[in-house]
Amino acid sequence: MTDHSPKTALVTGASRGIGAAIAERLAADGFAVVVNYAGNEEAASDVVARIEAKGGRAVAARADVADPTQVAQLFDRAEAAFGVPDVLVASAGIMQLASLAESSDDLFDRTIATNLKGTFNTLREAARRMKDGGRIMTLSSSVVGAKLPSYGVYAATKAAVEVMGDILSKELRGRNITVNSVAPGPTATALFLDGKTDAQIEALSKANPLQRLGQPEDIANTVSFLAGHDGGWINGQTLRANGGMV
Ligand code: NDP
Repeated sequence: MTDHSPKTALVTGASRGIGAAIAERLAADGFAVVVNYAGNEEAASDVVARIEAKGGRAVAARADVADPTQVAQLFDRAEAAFGVPDVLVASAGIMQLASLAESSDDLFDRTIATNLKGTFNTLREAARRMKDGGRIMTLSSSVVGAKLPSYGVYAATKAAVEVMGDILSKELRGRNITVNSVAPGPTATALFLDGKTDAQIEALSKANPLQRLGQPEDIANTVSFLAGHDGGWINGQTLRANGGMV
């Protein structure tokens, strides 16, 4: 990115978990941050308050990424607050585990709507609006590589997200905008922890040779690199941030 300030970042799904850590890290890096959330207004306000307490700038903005109208309004809101985003991080996502045999139509439709259509809605808006020199990141998952049973629908949405981002990186030729996916391994958030036994969490935490569970900050560090000066030559790639699990 060029060093003209102020710079703006829009982070979807930033009220909790990885998105919240990314929002706080980008704010610490000097970005004015739009903290998107789906329904959890209090959590989003807390993220904004934590950023402002450290001298940063942030606003919370509600939008269901699955709805293209709401995503367009989210970008309008971002532009009104801080100008067109220089950085987009499409982090909003959901996960419900089930074998394919036991996956309901509702599970499939909801996962596609948020993870795939939601990322599509967000990337499309960014492609139309972002200025030259921007950075776009999507959140994939290392399960695209690990291919663990019960992750079939979820992993399929993430594989699609990776490919869509790679193609967007080529479509943006000449605009000096990079598009990359960050693919975390198991990371200590509600999405990963909820519904798992201690034994399952322990086993997945030790699946990587560093033998610990990823923290949201580990993923935020990776996004910070891609959003910052030193990440500028990385384009059309998936960066697996997983301690070496796969
Ligand atoms: P969390 O469940 O902790 O947080 C999810 C966030 O997404 C919340 O801010 C939530 O908002 C928001 N969100 C959910 N649905 C929508 C929607 N339709 N529109 C807008 N926002 C929405 O998840 P994580 O932080 O763990 O996950 C972040 C990303 O990282 C996801 O894409 C996930 O697939 C990916 N990932 C996570 C891994 C992990 O182990 N945690 C591993 C690999 C990838 P609200 O608070 O309002 O509900």
